[in-house]
Amino acid sequence: MEPINILANQRHVGCLGGGQLGRMMAQAASRLGVIMTTLDPGGLDSPMGAVCGKAVTGSFTDPVKIRELAKLVDVVTVEIEHVDAVVLAELEAEGIAVHPSGKTIMLIQDKYAQKIHLSKLGGAVPLGDFCEIPDVAALLSAGERWGYPIMLKAKKNAYDGRGNLPVGSAVEAASAFATLSNNGKEELYAERWCLFTKELAVMVARSASGVTVSYPVVEMTAIDSQLHTVLVPASIDEAALALASKIASAAIASLSGGGIFGVELFLMPDGSALLNEIAPRPHNSGHYTMDSCHTDQFEMHLRCVLDLPLGSAEMKARARRRTLPRPVPVAAMLNVIGSADGSLPKTLASVQRALTMPSASIHWYGKSPPKAKRKMGHINVTATSSAGALAMLSTLQGLADQTQA
Ligand code: ATP
Ligand code: MG
Ligand code: MG
Repeated sequence: MEPINILANQRHVGCLGGGQLGRMMAQAASRLGVIMTTLDPGGLDSPMGAVCGKAVTGSFTDPVKIRELAKLVDVVTVEIEHVDAVVLAELEAEGIAVHPSGKTIMLIQDKYAQKIHLSKLGGAVPLGDFCEIPDVAALLSAGERWGYPIMLKAKKNAYDGRGNLPVGSAVEAASAFATLSNNGKEELYAERWCLFTKELAVMVARSASGVTVSYPVVEMTAIDSQLHTVLVPASIDEAALALASKIASAAIASLSGGGIFGVELFLMPDGSALLNEIAPRPHNSGHYTMDSCHTDQFEMHLRCVLDLPLGSAEMKARARRRTLPRPVPVAAMLNVIGSADGSLPKTLASVQRALTMPSASIHWYGKSPPKAKRKMGHINVTATSSAGALAMLSTLQGLADQTQA
């Protein structure tokens, strides 16, 4: 007998990529009774494949495999932007539902093209200075205009800061260009160094039919350009919160297709905010939503691509106390990163401690082995004050930081 599903029709979502974001999407899908299939080189052994139990084994840059996946499902989505977006656009033209749109993914996967697009929105999305770097001379000339350091960036295939290289002076320019461009094979651009006071992020969700909701503004810390911790709500004034939200909404309004988007911003000392980049998918800065929001970012993404009602992006209120004021919900997240020497016991130090904390929740991605800089899992904590959340975060972070030495 067919199992009864909460959705009128059994829906099947195909996801390009099978990493941890796909895995957590599949966990949300399981709760909703939505079937998922991943397209990933790891197939059923990928973090997502192991959870959803359905996989097309192959590359998410292989047009044949993408088409094979599309034939099986009602909607195609992504958990990574470094896919063959041309095929996605072709599928859409053939009438297949793809969210977000192939055009959006194509734009975002090239960080330089993304910035050019955003710079044409009449100032609605403020950006720092940036320019294309076709050769060393262009880098030297940017250095003369802006001074050093300069953030040199790969246009494509960047993640976790792996496409970023800070250039400290004109002396380093030639070697930095050669290293990051792989001797001229990869295209680069540069950004003026941003002396931000905080890094912020806003998750914006839009359903396939255009309904949008935004999550609270979070603040993030990074180590070597890789996201490390998140605190929610960001401890910044109301004007800065409103500004970050407004910029994020304007940026997402300029893109087509449904889904959840992560918008990364820099808060500047004068109170202004600059957009850093957009992710067309669930985002590391939104992992806290799994334990703190009415609808977490993974379920929200599925609701968007399936065009279901969106639910609430608000944080869940903590238990009501007799005393006023009512406690404000606060959340924090720590990434569990593979230790520098790849040791599993060291990698697990923060996880072992979190097991003894009543308000900590562990999310483990099932990856092996724990290589340096590899995201292995994350820990969410909930509290009723920023001080409480930060105290727990600092205990866990102390253990995690020791593993990076
Ligand atoms: P993600 O994993 O978020 O996709 P990414 O590899 O695309 O990261 P970016 O978001 O461009 O990289 O940069 C990573 C981090 O590097 C930022 O979060 C910030 O800490 C730092 N960074 C990036 N651009 C600049 C800049 N122009 N000035 C100063 N720091 C920067
Ligand atoms: Mg990025
Ligand atoms: Mg980033």
